[in-house]
Amino acid sequence: MADHPARLRRAAEQMSAHGVDALLLGPGADLRYLIGYDPPPLERLTLLVVRADATATLVLPALEEELARHAGLPEQVTVAAHGETDDAYALVHRALGDAQAGRLAVGDRLWTMFTLALQDQLPQARWALASTVTSRLRAIKEPAEIAALREAGAAIDRVHQRLPGLLAPGRTEAEVARDVAAAIVEEGHEQVSFVIVAAGPNAASPHHESGSRRLRDGDPVLVDIGGMRDGYGSDCTRNYVLGEPPADYAQAYARLREAQEAAVTAIAPGVTSGAVDAAARDRLAAAGLAEAFVHRTGHGIGLEEHEAPWIAPGGETLLEPGMVFSVEPGVYLPDRWGMRLEDIVVVTEQGAESLNRLPHDLVRV
Ligand code: ZN
Ligand code: ZN
Ligand code: ZN
Repeated sequence: MADHPARLRRAAEQMSAHGVDALLLGPGADLRYLIGYDPPPLERLTLLVVRADATATLVLPALEEELARHAGLPEQVTVAAHGETDDAYALVHRALGDAQAGRLAVGDRLWTMFTLALQDQLPQARWALASTVTSRLRAIKEPAEIAALREAGAAIDRVHQRLPGLLAPGRTEAEVARDVAAAIVEEGHEQVSFVIVAAGPNAASPHHESGSRRLRDGDPVLVDIGGMRDGYGSDCTRNYVLGEPPADYAQAYARLREAQEAAVTAIAPGVTSGAVDAAARDRLAAAGLAEAFVHRTGHGIGLEEHEAPWIAPGGETLLEPGMVFSVEPGVYLPDRWGMRLEDIVVVTEQGAESLNRLPHDLVRV
């Protein structure tokens, strides 16, 4: 069980460091991180108001009060429930006190209907994004979070181990994807986040939607899959080949593998996120594949599948022990094929530990 009172105190420290007077969070990962409650994102206002003294008010619909109390809220949180005909924003006013004329950091993904209403009701406030306060907190994982991510990584590895048995000429991407989704749950995830099964030229689209294409002999198949296990994400890409791949594919794959491994080797505390990206990108550029690597090298992962830190060109985030992110360079040749090699890694005192343990070889089926 996470120490939510300590997280609220750390959030308050970040608020003062960034000149934020209150944090306003709707349902989602930030709120769940701070108080351990995962409210349904619906049209009635649910808003956590966190003040600079680390006390908080959870404004919620009266009919969800039981649900919230059942979640075991930290002691600093006061519940303020609104009935169907009450003014929910009056409760926000009261919770804010003096802070209503200050700088308010509002959840990055709070629905526009709530954000506009808040701006209308709090005309003196100045506005900022909650991520200015929360992303750094969430980026550095606690030991229990790393343990959860490690379990999620092991679970998705077990799914990849089942892939050779699911890939066969004549099957469609969508059929394989359905079986993979079932395997993601069977191997211990409570939820499937995404399943990308991209065969032949379809893999040249990095976020391809698995469809009606039938696998054929000679197809390279990119499989990028992830789910949520105990609230934490997995995300892993491996590349499979039915029979013999195109000659240039196997050569490029060797370069991709070097690029991915060079990026992981570059990881250490104090290194910038941009340097990790460059380690992969420079390798691919040296092989003449710079143009074919069309995305950043990685993204953080935790309560969300994509979160800070971002491992991108020019990134200035200094890596710290406990950060967890993907390292996933790719090579995409339109109308031909595509490939990506992805592991989740955790930054350690010495370097990086991969949470995905399967070999990086092309898997021949
Ligand atoms: Zn992606
Ligand atoms: Zn990823
Ligand atoms: Zn992925």
